[in-house]
Amino acid sequence: MTDILPFLKSLISVSGLSGHEHPIADLISEKWHPLVDEVRISRVGSLHGLKRGTGKSPRPSIMIATHMDAIGMRVSKIADGFLHITNVGGIDVRTLPGAEVTVHASRSNEALPGVIAMRPARFLPESVGDKVHGLEYLLVDTGLLPRDVVRKVCVGDLVSFANPPLDLAGGVISGHSLDNRAAIAALTLCLEELQNKPHLWDLWAVATVQEETTYLGAYTSSFALRPQIAIVVDGTFAKGPGANGWQTFAMGKGVGLCIGPNLHPFLHQQLKELAERLEIPWFLDVTPRDSGTDAFAIQVTAEGIPTALVEFPIRYMHTTVESVALKDIQRTGRLLAEFVATLEQNFVEQIVWND
Ligand SMILES: [Zn+2]
Repeated sequence: MTDILPFLKSLISVSGLSGHEHPIADLISEKWHPLVDEVRISRVGSLHGLKRGTGKSPRPSIMIATHMDAIGMRVSKIADGFLHITNVGGIDVRTLPGAEVTVHASRSNEALPGVIAMRPARFLPESVGDKVHGLEYLLVDTGLLPRDVVRKVCVGDLVSFANPPLDLAGGVISGHSLDNRAAIAALTLCLEELQNKPHLWDLWAVATVQEETTYLGAYTSSFALRPQIAIVVDGTFAKGPGANGWQTFAMGKGVGLCIGPNLHPFLHQQLKELAERLEIPWFLDVTPRDSGTDAFAIQVTAEGIPTALVEFPIRYMHTTVESVALKDIQRTGRLLAEFVATLEQNFVEQIVWND
């Protein structure tokens, strides 16, 4: 299997905040081009890569959806040369102080480096003091003089995380936006595997926009492509210090397969049996309701698209140091490719909601 690490690193070095996915879409499109028959961009900016199957026409299609948007921030106010910020998507604000960021300055069309700073504790209300500070108490410092800041930056400008990815020991990578760029890496591995593996069904490799904020990409791509079935790939909570509950999973120990009302039991069963046949380790994630992923939007599109959710564990979700085991990404890519390759022409007829 190819080494996906360089591509994954490039994926988390390019911005693409929720609603502003252009830069990341370009990078993915370039990578997918030689791997699929065509790449199109949807009306709202999602990427649709079509890899045609060899089955007879009209061919059924499977969509594998991975969201490409990332969480970040936006300038909410400029005061004395410092930038106040609000969030784009859900951020764990506890980890923001000290973060390196890029301010996408729209007036000067520049990417300005910045750091997230706090006001000194003694100048804050006593109730805030040395506790965790909310976003309203954090500032971005670009180093520029106040008059230069207002010449370059506007309220509404985007602020993305800028810390470079870091290889940790033990085959773990750490950085921002691994949710969900690691899934894009897994889907890319799947496309690479399928270069030498015939498949009957058409495959739509999809990188959706706005999962972190509105599910816009998932709703619109599933409506536009109307696949017979779909698989969503996203991160879940890894076990870590203080995180050992039943909804956390060991990193590096396999692929997560979800069950719950949001996921189709028949697809789950097929994925589970396939993982076992291939000796790919997997774990069960029980999702009591809407999974909080693109899988929800896809499942409720049109007359209801049978949808499965495949996951990889992430430590420190929604922080600048999200961490993922590369092994989990490789296994996910392999399972996806094998699943696509095993789909028989009449697979759809076997699908029943019979849990
Ligand atoms: Zn995600």
